[in-house]
Amino acid sequence: MAGRTEIVWPTPNTAFFDGKPIEAFIQPTASGIVESGLYGGVRNGGTRFHEGIDLFPLKRDRQGEPVDPVFAVMPGVVRHVSTLPGNSSYGRYIVIEHPGETPAVYTLYAHLRAIEPGLAAGTEVARGQRIATMGRSSSVIAIPKARAHLHFEIGVWLARDFQRWYDAQKFGSPNMHGIWNGLNLMGLDPLDFYRCLRAGGVADFQDYFRQMKPVVRLRIASGSRMPDFVERYPSLRTTPVQAADGVGGWEIAFNETGIPFAWTPLQAHELADYKPGEARVLAVDEALAKKWRCKSLAVKTRGQWRAGDDLDTVLQLLFGPR
Ligand SMILES: [Zn+2]
Repeated sequence: MAGRTEIVWPTPNTAFFDGKPIEAFIQPTASGIVESGLYGGVRNGGTRFHEGIDLFPLKRDRQGEPVDPVFAVMPGVVRHVSTLPGNSSYGRYIVIEHPGETPAVYTLYAHLRAIEPGLAAGTEVARGQRIATMGRSSSVIAIPKARAHLHFEIGVWLARDFQRWYDAQKFGSPNMHGIWNGLNLMGLDPLDFYRCLRAGGVADFQDYFRQMKPVVRLRIASGSRMPDFVERYPSLRTTPVQAADGVGGWEIAFNETGIPFAWTPLQAHELADYKPGEARVLAVDEALAKKWRCKSLAVKTRGQWRAGDDLDTVLQLLFGPR
């Protein structure tokens, strides 16, 4: 078993560990509302989802640009370095995967000013190693100097076959980031994870995923082929499964932002009245779903629940087009 997760803060600001309020490290949007820099449905009156946290710099050069180093928070392997700021709304960004954790989460560092020389896909990094300099790069919005920040994410990625899904969307621009495109990434709440770890409520990511609350439970008759997501994150299975051992599909629990965090294999006979590929919503936590209106996970028509747009996208990425 893996030991307790040891994780550092991605910037030199010690405010979180000193127990200071979020104003001491969170960079708000132009709204000035500090919560807008947190994770969740924190923007546009609660309707827009922010998949990470925004952290402001402590030091700047004479031009007012940030000089704070950015650190890898855990040991890991660099998977993606995007050096051209115009290629992503993340600007210059780095993704690191952490095979020492269960599940092997990724961390993402965005809007960087500069990336440490020599850092490339495949580079192994140590916990606390400097990987970049904080900045304000982005392809879509000009982030003003005053709001330079690190966008920091922790999460899991959905599909090896991401490119097939991407091509089918007809976005009109090529995917420059392979599987490390933001659309293939699902972030959890980094600040909540740090808080739970500090409070001792969880010891590692496995604990953290186990205490996620199901907002939607769904069954899908996906056939015997196992989605690579469950292959890569076997700890998210609730019961061990032998490959192709009569598995006809899955019962999956999704948290409030649609992360498929608990997978139970179903025998083909348990899905006898399902059409191939059919998905049925079994249960919805309506109070939580309402609270997280930045995500459309389930919608009710004529008294029947079905997957909402955001959940449907997750299902398409996990199982292929339906
Ligand atoms: Zn952000």
